[in-house]
Amino acid sequence: MSMSKWFKHLQGFGVKTIPWHGIKPDGSCTCSIRGCVNVGDHPLSGFSLGMFDEGKWPYASIAIDACEGVAVLEVTKDGRDGWSELKERHGIKKTWVAKGSNGSWLVFFKRPTDLLSVRPWGNGMSIRRDPILAPPSLLPDGKRLQWIVAPWECKLGSIPGSLLVIVTNQARQPMGDQSATQEYIKFVYWAQEGKHDSAKGRMDCVLKKTINFNKDNCPSISEGDLYNLVEETIQGILDSNLPPVPQQAIEAASLFGGEIADHLTYREAGK
Ligand SMILES: [Zn+2]
Repeated sequence: MSMSKWFKHLQGFGVKTIPWHGIKPDGSCTCSIRGCVNVGDHPLSGFSLGMFDEGKWPYASIAIDACEGVAVLEVTKDGRDGWSELKERHGIKKTWVAKGSNGSWLVFFKRPTDLLSVRPWGNGMSIRRDPILAPPSLLPDGKRLQWIVAPWECKLGSIPGSLLVIVTNQARQPMGDQSATQEYIKFVYWAQEGKHDSAKGRMDCVLKKTINFNKDNCPSISEGDLYNLVEETIQGILDSNLPPVPQQAIEAASLFGGEIADHLTYREAGK
């Protein structure tokens, strides 16, 4: 596939591709600056894809930039052990991974609504804020960068909630501001009664709905805090031995235009 097709092909997966200086057949950088210190690895401005067709910049390379739907985690060689550990601990699912320059790995995730923390995820691991050289760009040693798991091989993975809590860096809101959200969580939790095979399935559903609910709230709660709030609220319900639907939840349900069935009372009545 030609380089110009790669730009469009990757865009088709929601990845933001941008032109990058590449390497000419004689091994020099397309910027033609004598003594360029980042041969084939720096931004190329004033470029449009049409220029490929016109035969201009035939050796341009490709970089991937963070965009609304996609976050790119760079794992350097030093970060590989830490990455394996994170993967194991948080059950990170299969997602797109590319080889980057200098032996790094580029791991792609669905970008959460919150901006991810600027602090690294661990030694040698950080979310990219700037564009980064991507496959199939040419390296100075003549090899091309390659996908390890390409976008056409699996769906773009998400960052597990348990990890988001750690890597999002939003100031916590006072609990008082969270009461409406908490009522909503209780409402959704009870509304899911009997609809899931596992407690985890029920919680995931509550979390998903709460994230949507939270998007309309102003100011909204960070996704990490939201995860905690859902967990705490559900734990609170479980600790009180699953009491019948609380009056507040019924009131909350009416507030959000929903109805709520008191399954426990039904169950008892059926005995
Ligand atoms: Zn250059």
